[in-house]
Amino acid sequence: MSLAAAEPAAVAGCVTRPVLRERGQHEVFCGLTGIVWLHRKIQDAFFLVVGSRTCAHLLQSAAGVMIFAEPRFATAIIDERDLAGLADCNDELDRVVARLIERRPDIRMLFLVGSCPSEVIKLDLSRAAQRLSRRFMPKVRVLSYSGSGIETTFTQGEDACLASLVPEMPAEPGTARSLLVVGALAEVVEDQMIRHFAALGVGPVRFLPGRRAAELPAIGPGTRILLAQPFLGDTLRALESRGAKRIAAPFPLGVEGTSAWLRAAAVEWGCPEARIAEALAAGEARGRAALARHREALAGKSIFFFPDSQLEIPLARFLSRELGMQLTEVGTPYLHREIMAEEVALLPDSVRLSEGQDVDRQLDRCRAAAPDLTVCGLGLANPLEAEGMATKWSIELVFTPIQGYEQAGDLAGLFARPLDRRARLEL
Ligand code: SF4
Repeated sequence: MSLAAAEPAAVAGCVTRPVLRERGQHEVFCGLTGIVWLHRKIQDAFFLVVGSRTCAHLLQSAAGVMIFAEPRFATAIIDERDLAGLADCNDELDRVVARLIERRPDIRMLFLVGSCPSEVIKLDLSRAAQRLSRRFMPKVRVLSYSGSGIETTFTQGEDACLASLVPEMPAEPGTARSLLVVGALAEVVEDQMIRHFAALGVGPVRFLPGRRAAELPAIGPGTRILLAQPFLGDTLRALESRGAKRIAAPFPLGVEGTSAWLRAAAVEWGCPEARIAEALAAGEARGRAALARHREALAGKSIFFFPDSQLEIPLARFLSRELGMQLTEVGTPYLHREIMAEEVALLPDSVRLSEGQDVDRQLDRCRAAAPDLTVCGLGLANPLEAEGMATKWSIELVFTPIQGYEQAGDLAGLFARPLDRRARLEL
């Protein structure tokens, strides 16, 4: 996708350090990619992309390797048609949905996912979702969001999906206090977090998204939000408009991030310091021991992040502070200053932060920095590998369980492996 190129400018954000802002050509996947992990998370949901053959190919190639049962996503291909053909298009969409729901009685929630072809943009998917919801409720709730590459990058599809759920969440009666963990986490991670919160006396704890469509948590002024993923700005705004309040914290990556994240909730619940220290000690010790195994391979090695998933800043903080890696540039597609404030404060002063992308300029900076490891999207990884650089695919970091103490060692291993592979190749 190509946007008008603009001169990069260093601007100061509320994060009191210069940020290189670029608005040029960028290379990222669109928000449809989120379906690949969301369809596994919400186990009775179905994602129907209303799009083109390109969208169908993207989904198939991104998710094809992971299909082991009947898939819970598909593409309704809309061919070129003029405005006069739109009524037929709506009829056709209704027919496709009716057939799908009849064939798949397990579906409880159906997302109509918009894409960028102009024929799809002309269709009003939110009205279609309302119309179809009226027809199929209470058995199936139909919602819509956009995964279009014009509006969303890679992880913003999850943000758009979760934001579409917020108006459906029931109101919490009164001001009853609860913790809402927001962002898709692997079940194994969720279960670990539930145990930690119980040890800290924090609860009740709910998750968005839940594992089943009917598990939409209640929300109200007593709800406190802990973001598990950094790319959920729209969802946060929607939750705040329902009265919930965010607990400011770094993200649960690495031992330090996990402790700070859990501690922030514990402090909000008035948990005494001694109990926090006791509840977290064993997890911290296990996490540190697992990290020690990778420290030798990573300490002192330099790393460059291209903007892709919005996980870049928390990952950079983890790699620099817990594994001794040297940060050169940390790029993020979008820097949400409020959500990211606690993370940015933990980065070393020497790092160059960049927001957005002008891919050619950034490639030049990357080559000049000659980092030991480059984290980037699939499109850039192959050419950089061909130039002799070690790369890590950022998409893998979204598909893999990486949050929490028990996953800290695996997370470090994801960065150590490409360095190890390159060292062997060089030998
Ligand atoms: Fe391509 Fe747009 Fe479809 Fe994404 S939504 S696959 S960018 S056509």
